[in-house]
Amino acid sequence: MITFVGAGPGAEDLITVRGDQLLKSADIVIYAGSLVNPALLLRCREDCEIWNSAEMTLEEVLEVFYRGAQEGKEIVRLHTGDPCLYGAIQEQMDALKEKGIAYEICPGVSSFSGAAAALQTEYTLPSVSQSVVITRMAGRTPVPERESIRAFAAHQSTMVVFLSTGLLRELSKELIDGGYTPDTPAAIVYKATWPEEKVLRCTVETLEETARRNDVKKTALIIVGRVLEGEYERSKLYDPEFTTEFRKGVEK
Ligand code: SAH
Repeated sequence: MITFVGAGPGAEDLITVRGDQLLKSADIVIYAGSLVNPALLLRCREDCEIWNSAEMTLEEVLEVFYRGAQEGKEIVRLHTGDPCLYGAIQEQMDALKEKGIAYEICPGVSSFSGAAAALQTEYTLPSVSQSVVITRMAGRTPVPERESIRAFAAHQSTMVVFLSTGLLRELSKELIDGGYTPDTPAAIVYKATWPEEKVLRCTVETLEETARRNDVKKTALIIVGRVLEGEYERSKLYDPEFTTEFRKGVEK
């Protein structure tokens, strides 16, 4: 069995209990060395075979899967955050499916949740934004034109931008051209939940300058939107006058 496990955003204790158990019992672990906290590997058995996928091609990863599966080994493929976002797991799963090798996914805490915690922010505030756009700037991996930052900016919803720390000047321009005012609050969260985490609050206009001043070049998320201002209407869910499935409201 092969399990794709979400390692969480960085802090060692933000892997799930299930992920931890899988890691402790695995015969083989292939981890995404660029972002997974290496301290997690100390939980592996002494005789566990450990591979760093940052130095491997897809074909090399698959070779380890195929051999391990043939030998009946328990394999963990450890991805950063949650594997469903920018994890390149589909191509691995498709190859396994073709060979008839069973696999499962164990979810993890994504870095976008880690960043919200670092910011002590709720991404969805009543009357401010009820949607979160998770996206990225086009890099070597293209982004479909209909999903450009400029197109999403028109919605003025909360935006969490992955994989774009090296493109902040362009990101600001896209955001402003798309409809956010230059003074819209923004934040850069570097290495959320790691000991070296940095939380930098700025505006849409000052993203590049803020990153430069604080020497942030990678492993960061950009959060954009008025939710960072903290002005909102209180929730209906906890309003005394509001009746829910679990509680009867009282009229004032
Ligand atoms: N699957 C991962 C994302 C992988 S893509 C997840 O769910 O978080 C890698 C990008 O994620 C990085 O370039 C960076 O933009 C972001 N990232 C990953 N870990 C991060 C962290 N701890 N803090 C801030 N950004 C992070």
